[in-house]
Amino acid sequence: DEWVTSGKIGSREAVLVFRTNILNPKTRKSLLETPTKLKAGTDSHVALSTPSEAIHKTSSSPTISKTQSNFKNQAKIFVAVEKADVKSKEIEKFNHRSPIKKALDAFSSSDASVSSDGDETMQINESKPRKPHKSKNSSIIEIEVNLNKESGYDSVTASQSNTEINTSEEDQGASSEEDNECGINMPAHQLKITYKFIQTETKLLRKIFNVHGLTEVQGDSHFNLLWTGVHMKLDTLRNLSLYQRVNHFPRSYELTRKDRLYKNIERMQHLRGMKHFDIVPQSFILPLEIRDLIFSHNKYRGPWIVKPAASSRGRGIFIVNSPDQIPQDEQVLVSKYIVDPLCIDGHKCDLRVYVLVTSFDPLIIYLYEEGIVRLATVRYDRNADNLWNPCMHLCNYSINKYHSDYIRSSDAQDEDVGHKWTLSALLRHLKLQGCDTHLLMLNIEDLIIKAVLACAQTIISACRMFVPNVNNCFELYGFDILIDNTLKPWLLEVNLSPSMGVDSPLDTKVKACLVTDLLTCVGIPAFTPEMRNHYDGKSSRLRSSSCQRQIDTTETLRSTKSKKKPVIPLTQEEQRILRSARLQYTRRGGFVRIFPTDDSMQRYGNFLDPANGIPISTPNVQGQTFQTLVTQHNYNQMLHSNLFGSGQRSPKDDNSQENRIKQYERALETDSEIPFLKKQIVEKCEEEGRRLRKQMLKKISSGSTLTHFQARQTFSLYLESVLRRLTQDPKDIHEKIILKFLTKYGGGVKPPVLFKNSQNISKARSAMVAKLLGDFLELYRRDTEAYIDSFDHFGMIPTNAYSLFLMHAQESDLEAVLTHHTNVTGIMPFLYNRCGLTVPPTPPIPSGLHGFLRALPAMVSSYGVSRDVSKYDGYIKNCDKNCENV
Ligand code: ADP
Repeated sequence: DEWVTSGKIGSREAVLVFRTNILNPKTRKSLLETPTKLKAGTDSHVALSTPSEAIHKTSSSPTISKTQSNFKNQAKIFVAVEKADVKSKEIEKFNHRSPIKKALDAFSSSDASVSSDGDETMQINESKPRKPHKSKNSSIIEIEVNLNKESGYDSVTASQSNTEINTSEEDQGASSEEDNECGINMPAHQLKITYKFIQTETKLLRKIFNVHGLTEVQGDSHFNLLWTGVHMKLDTLRNLSLYQRVNHFPRSYELTRKDRLYKNIERMQHLRGMKHFDIVPQSFILPLEIRDLIFSHNKYRGPWIVKPAASSRGRGIFIVNSPDQIPQDEQVLVSKYIVDPLCIDGHKCDLRVYVLVTSFDPLIIYLYEEGIVRLATVRYDRNADNLWNPCMHLCNYSINKYHSDYIRSSDAQDEDVGHKWTLSALLRHLKLQGCDTHLLMLNIEDLIIKAVLACAQTIISACRMFVPNVNNCFELYGFDILIDNTLKPWLLEVNLSPSMGVDSPLDTKVKACLVTDLLTCVGIPAFTPEMRNHYDGKSSRLRSSSCQRQIDTTETLRSTKSKKKPVIPLTQEEQRILRSARLQYTRRGGFVRIFPTDDSMQRYGNFLDPANGIPISTPNVQGQTFQTLVTQHNYNQMLHSNLFGSGQRSPKDDNSQENRIKQYERALETDSEIPFLKKQIVEKCEEEGRRLRKQMLKKISSGSTLTHFQARQTFSLYLESVLRRLTQDPKDIHEKIILKFLTKYGGGVKPPVLFKNSQNISKARSAMVAKLLGDFLELYRRDTEAYIDSFDHFGMIPTNAYSLFLMHAQESDLEAVLTHHTNVTGIMPFLYNRCGLTVPPTPPIPSGLHGFLRALPAMVSSYGVSRDVSKYDGYIKNCDKNCENV
């Protein structure tokens, strides 16, 4: 009962409860033994153990854990191997007796975790995994296995990081045996509640789902919850059953695409008056609106911030003083640069707040009590000479993290340390300085509500057309807000799928609490399979409620005409909506409902259609098109008058300003500490790397070649090593080489215009080069996935042997193999797929350290490197098969 709320299992309203403390193995036991009641409006979140615990490793015995990977029939295995286990002479035995081989054998034959004592015996270890143990002599090897039902496994690829365990999505997301054991005892497991991911960051989410007993499904299997990182396919939406939930509304891009958002708000500025919708910096879409931009520039002057239309994480952003510095060849969004931002200790900062919309009609918006404040690494200086410096003007973590002065807080309780703070810490800091934080938070709420109102109309009509049941969709938006030095908040953008990445203990704490509170608030129905079958056959809202709405129309029209509102009994649908809103409010956890509130009709009623309560954002639609599309009812009015109407307000519904502000200012509380396992330093076996390198060079000399996949893997690992080296110890000459290579390469990674011309050599410049290289690597790795080839071809280096080399290779080993392969074969499969006119001749590669790096820019033709479009497109299409932009 403690894990189900809002009704008994078997009732239509019963939903699952999610808590963070269940994620922490230490507190889990006591929680399961002494049940805690979920109290409305209190902390339902508690603590989360780091997902990295999924990797079990000991110094003495290799242990493997199995996780699901993005690819069907593939899994990842993490093998902890004693250095001694891979002594040089034993490597030859790899195919027979190596720990890896044994682990793989065991993996293919058993689900249990496997351990091996020494080289001789092999046991299936059914016991609980041991605590991770740091050892200088052990290495974590990540192995991708293509699982083939008949033959066990048919290919192995491996990678290993030199300095850090590769805590990629999958490994951190791996649910440990303990988590799964815990999940088995949860109601969700017994009710067979399932979830499905599509193109999304999964580590934190998967951990939370699994420990609560939800089971992951793939492909076309039935799901209770679909969590996607992209927009929904219309067909999926149309066929949703009453008990199914998806994490997006159709046409959400009206809010989340920068250009659409700005246009929607601009329209409201024209329709409702600038003073009501002055919430975004004045913006223009170029090249279309270049004249307007010049006109505005002549009037108000710059600077302007230029953002590529479809990009994120600060990619391609630069600041100019005048429009003539903006290249005319691509579509960009140009916004007035806010020159006087709020600074903390002299550093510019911006805010990421989390906004949950559980329904657009009626409109129900929550703001999470905690958010994240991101600080720029370099002290702010509005002098125009510094406009080129991204680490001063942009607050993106993905840019600033490469700066050598960037400080990460290493304790979840440090909420105002380093370059990432919490929202509550910022509010407390501002309050101490005498700032009116109440007004600031009310203005942020106002900005959020207005942005949603500006985009809601289209989303509501899409919901009417495609979403069969009123509670099917919910959406968590990431609002990026910049506060200026008068404490006025400006909306920069709204993110469709805000990052759930957990890079620090603070991130883990905030996001784990956010997700568990979100799931409880939204409500994943605790439906039994029998109920599912029953409801699957039932008609949906689309099919059943038309006559219901007909009644609503006449009733509402009657009520809006007469001044004294007659008391009209609620229709069944209205009763359901009201009940569901009330129940949801009791489950809100750390979410603060900002719409509806007691004064929302007074403040925003003017922006709603008087008859049906729908936000109006298009003048020509008023009173015509939209009303024919949407039948008449006024859920917003109904909900407001029932929650806050005279004499009806119950303390349970109270989300007064005062209560809301209190919640924003309190620090996010958890019942126990959230352990955060730092990425562990793992040393590669240098000697082994050198030995294997010799072997590979010999094979290449005797005519073996690398497959495209192997060549790309090598190149990618090589650049990763360079990136790591440059962030630790910047070298001007190497940065210049990388910059030249990236500029010639083109594609998605281009240095900002001003940056290219800047002669400044500084930590910020190093950070920018590192960021560009990081972006390049992300795209390159994605392209590389299209080349995965599980077969050993004649004349090619065997997959297993090469994977082992990659595991141990250092930068110099990778460089040696790439150089030798290029010199011997005269081809560059890591950059080009085939010979062709645009493929430049292979340049001579100087021998010696970093010779390959020096030759790199010459490997790219002046036309850049065109991706192998057909192969790449095929891959993307495959990935996008289940998703389409609505
Ligand atoms: P992205 O989606 O690529 O992160 P954003 O619009 O969020 O792009 O902007 C990135 C950073 O640039 C923000 O963190 C903010 O610090 C800065 N920024 C964006 N727009 C403005 C602006 N109009 N004025 C001042 N700074 C801005």
